Amino acid sequence: MLNSSLQQLGAALRSKKISSVELTQLYLDRIATLNSKFNAYITVNEEMSLAQARAADVKLVQSETNALTGIPIAQKDIFCALGWRTTCGSKMLSDFIAPYDAHVIEQFNSAGAVNIGKTNMDEFAMGSSNETSYFGTVKNPWNHKAVPGGSSGGSAAAVSARLCAAATGTDTGGSIRQPAALCGISGLKPTYGVVSRYGMIAFASSLDQAGPMAHSAEDLALMLNVMAGFDERDSTSLQRESEDYTRDLNKPLNGLRIGLPKEFFAAGLSADVAPAIEASIAEYKKLGASVVDISLPNSRLSIPVYYVLAPAEASSNLSRYDGVRYGYRASEYTNLADMYEKSRAQGFGEEVKRRIMIGTYVLSHGYYDAYYLQAQKIRRLIAQDFDEAFKQCDVIMGPTTPTTAFNLGEKNDDPVQMYLSDIYTIAVNLAGLPGMSIPAGFGGNDLPIGLQIIGNYFDEARMLNVAHQYQQVTDWHTRTPQHIEG
Ligand code: GLN
Repeated sequence: MLNSSLQQLGAALRSKKISSVELTQLYLDRIATLNSKFNAYITVNEEMSLAQARAADVKLVQSETNALTGIPIAQKDIFCALGWRTTCGSKMLSDFIAPYDAHVIEQFNSAGAVNIGKTNMDEFAMGSSNETSYFGTVKNPWNHKAVPGGSSGGSAAAVSARLCAAATGTDTGGSIRQPAALCGISGLKPTYGVVSRYGMIAFASSLDQAGPMAHSAEDLALMLNVMAGFDERDSTSLQRESEDYTRDLNKPLNGLRIGLPKEFFAAGLSADVAPAIEASIAEYKKLGASVVDISLPNSRLSIPVYYVLAPAEASSNLSRYDGVRYGYRASEYTNLADMYEKSRAQGFGEEVKRRIMIGTYVLSHGYYDAYYLQAQKIRRLIAQDFDEAFKQCDVIMGPTTPTTAFNLGEKNDDPVQMYLSDIYTIAVNLAGLPGMSIPAGFGGNDLPIGLQIIGNYFDEARMLNVAHQYQQVTDWHTRTPQHIEG
């Protein structure tokens, strides 16, 4: 069961080989025995999960089913889910019970999926290692000394350790793709606007986008079918005809043009990641693809641009946590201003405070033009580089991350080193493009390597096809970490 695809699980449920309650209990039992090892979940609620499973079993009897009916899906703890504690990895929200469902959660509920728990994450999705979580670090299932990546590290670890069938994540600068790469799973960040941000706790609103994390491209397609869709409560949600993201999975890749940006294969790419990516490209050539050398000249500016824009938006989004309406409130204070200050000083962690301060600074009068406005202009140039590139190729490929998973604690004292782990992913968010990561081998330390596939706007179905065809001729995505048995 644990290594079954979503398609196989759905078939087993529909043919009554297993009930949703049994499947849900199987995962709950694994979480009960193994979560202390990985810390992938912040909240599990057996009662609520099993209630959903029972409801799914009724739907299954009545044959009112969707591909995901009865399947246990883990939700990143950034999504508000009615009645569930929703912390966003922060002390600020450590006691917050969401009074409503995010659009993504509503979509899973109406598909009849089971919420198997809320996964650990970097505080307010700020981080690349899960070490900024108020609820402690997550361990990489492949090696307990290594980070799982971030900010969706709990989701990546939960999928990798078979503590759920699939999971959701969010990606502002790489937070789906980078942890997917470091934990040896598949992850997709859709085009900005394809998945509604309603009820997804905001970090940097012009960049945040939710997406699926799972074992294979085929599973991602089934998840995206549920997650995508117009929602008028998010003003950036796009009104488009609904798509079946599985429709092109089996298309042959003859004639596919793969763009290889020279900037992604330059200094900084570690010696063990490069050959794995080259081997994947060779595999694609065997499948009928051809390779085009391209350049993304402004991508080198993506980290500095992101670390102006994302903190600027975060400083504004996080101003709502003032201790008044909800969230943490300091227990002792002298007056209203003191209450705000103490609640924010005690409720936010170090990285979040650092970003609020940077954001406030770059938006302040006198610095706005020099930093924020400049960054916006370069953001446009970065997007134009991709427009040019897609005139010559159908998809862009390269590494997801410069190295395999680093050790817990290794980059904690050096935020800039930490920020560099998103060097290949951030430009995609700045341009609003879809990007994914799929398993593509192992490094010298036996830790997973991710191949990044970047598509043009709304080209998710093609990217899933490209990933699926690779997964038909390789088995990296089926490899399982040792020592994850319950
Ligand atoms: N690691 C990046 C950051 O710390 C990206 C995070 C994300 O995508 N949520 O901001």
